[in-house]
Amino acid sequence: MYKGSKLYSIFRFKCPRCHEGDFFTHPSVYRWKNSNELLPECPKCGLNYQPETGFYFGASYVSYAITVALAVAVTVMLLPFVSWRNEVIYISAIAGTIFITLPLSIRLSRIIWLNLFIRYKTPEQRKKEGGF
Ligand SMILES: [Zn+2]
Repeated sequence: MYKGSKLYSIFRFKCPRCHEGDFFTHPSVYRWKNSNELLPECPKCGLNYQPETGFYFGASYVSYAITVALAVAVTVMLLPFVSWRNEVIYISAIAGTIFITLPLSIRLSRIIWLNLFIRYKTPEQRKKEGGF
């Protein structure tokens, strides 16, 4: 992952425009209280993280895609070891995986959603536009 790629911003939870400022108030994913709290804006470039009211409702589509991908992955991993007749094992494994990865999934879906609309800009590009 190099600076300037979407994956850099997504997996390091950094600002999609400058890739330097933090996106969430706390770096820890598994902090149950305020785990998904966003900063109001990027501390480095000033990008508004909440462009409009309800902006992150769209992140639920991304979260759904992540959840389905997880369910498919768990199913494929269990197939060689567990018979299809043991559906309780499949459902338990999928539900457990989704529950354990829920905080990470919520964070990823939000930053992926914002990355769909914001492009990376180098410091020179930001200076030309009169930003920070
Ligand atoms: Zn920024």
